[in-house]
Amino acid sequence: MSVIYEPRGRAKEYSPYALNLYLGCMHGCRYCYAPHALQRTAENYFIKPTPRRDVLKYLEKDLRQRRYDKQILLSFIGDVYCETADDNQTTREALNLLNAFHAPVAVLSKGGGRMLRDMDIFRAFGDRIAVGATLTFHDECKSREWEPDAALPADRLKALKILHDVGIKTFASFEPVVEPEESLKLIEQTLLDNSVDHYKIGKLNNYKGLDKGIDWREFLIRALKLLRPAKKQIYIKESLRCAASDVPLYENETDPERYIVRA
Ligand code: SF4
Repeated sequence: MSVIYEPRGRAKEYSPYALNLYLGCMHGCRYCYAPHALQRTAENYFIKPTPRRDVLKYLEKDLRQRRYDKQILLSFIGDVYCETADDNQTTREALNLLNAFHAPVAVLSKGGGRMLRDMDIFRAFGDRIAVGATLTFHDECKSREWEPDAALPADRLKALKILHDVGIKTFASFEPVVEPEESLKLIEQTLLDNSVDHYKIGKLNNYKGLDKGIDWREFLIRALKLLRPAKKQIYIKESLRCAASDVPLYENETDPERYIVRA
């Protein structure tokens, strides 16, 4: 069994390779697609997850079999820094293995400060890692309402700043964008903090019709107005490009592979 895999179709936009260590998540986001994708009930998915059986054994096997020259995303399903039954030890051991085999890695989490316990390993990767946070709400109450058990916005922002300040490549994923004003405030805050190297901007997709009432064109124009003068690496996701198709973009803002981590 292989645990490193190539996401297919539109999912490929997120990363050339992915690795899921835990198939459950404590963060309990209202918009989470994972229970549906895994054909599980919410009660069976939003639990303190245990690691997938023998995941480290299979990971080592995968890494021995071939060399990965493009980033492996942790993770597509679940969050490797949510509260887990093994206190995130599998995350740490997986990172150690990936580093030992010189694999390039991207870590995306809503775990905030919990990510920092593995900072020593992130640093050991050097340029072969990017560590990111999903930023959704600036307002604490809204964050609690939509992502009840994820780290609060201030904690995620602080973690990005600490990582960036020690020289670790950072990224922020703005997807979903539930309230554009909230996402724009977060972009402004990260620019003030100078905590993010690479911005990935998306939208809210097919959530109870809420996305239909949002002016995505205006959101994209305002996001670009903030980010372009700051000369940040920007990737505009396909869903947002389609919803705001008359907004001109540079080639480097539409290429999902341009800013990925490489070996
Ligand atoms: S962090 Fe991701 S996997 Fe976890 S509940 Fe939220 S959307 Fe789902």
